[in-house]
Amino acid sequence: MANLTILRTYALKNPETLPSSILFSHTAKSLTIYDAYPKSMFHFLILPRVQEPLTTTELGSLRSLLKINKERAKEVITGLHEDAKAAKKEIEEEMLRRYGFKWDVWTGFHGAPSMEHLHVHVLSADLCSEKMKNKKHYNSFHPSLGFFLHIDEVLSWFDAEPSFYAAKAQLKPSTYEPILKEDLSCFHCNSVMKNMPTLKAHLHEEWNKIEKKSKAAHHKKRKLESDTIDASDVQIGQKKSKPDSSE
Ligand SMILES: [Zn+2]
Ligand SMILES: [Zn+2]
Repeated sequence: MANLTILRTYALKNPETLPSSILFSHTAKSLTIYDAYPKSMFHFLILPRVQEPLTTTELGSLRSLLKINKERAKEVITGLHEDAKAAKKEIEEEMLRRYGFKWDVWTGFHGAPSMEHLHVHVLSADLCSEKMKNKKHYNSFHPSLGFFLHIDEVLSWFDAEPSFYAAKAQLKPSTYEPILKEDLSCFHCNSVMKNMPTLKAHLHEEWNKIEKKSKAAHHKKRKLESDTIDASDVQIGQKKSKPDSSE
């Protein structure tokens, strides 16, 4: 069983004391760590460090954060968003290095988190990982079931009607927890999957398809580019040959 308060422990620590197997990077305001149980090929967590005037209680979860002054809460989430963008860029570079193509990266919160201390998940859009073991894991990251709250969506609440914000900010566990029990379905094609092994094999196939498509598109683009270069070479050659021939 995972230690449910470990993230808080990290957030209170001097980042210099965290091992590089845990800490990926840090800023004055946040830590980017490797998820100890990655649910995708790439999976980081970004957590705000505990700093005045914010308290550990306020930073306990998205729910507790949204109870404080709205502007200050928005500032915290906007800050996490910035760090998430940097982490996404790192993931994309690593995708290219390791696999020769890149695919989507999601950034978001869990509607009803299992670990204490506010954190944003930044993970590659594949959900292919040996640590992905059960329906609860999978549904919590499914990008359209509603348990996984994309950060853009959460930020949009701040600009909505105050009553809408108030309703969303409640983050009632009774709204989110039932989602984890919904039937397994592929997030790419919506097919219903009868069990985890079937789903996992199917997700792998889906990823293979994306790989093939991306590589074919890349190849086509390269070919088009080289054809264009050839064509312009011919043009230059022709233009050049005119004055030559008139001499
Ligand atoms: Zn989480
Ligand atoms: Zn599918």
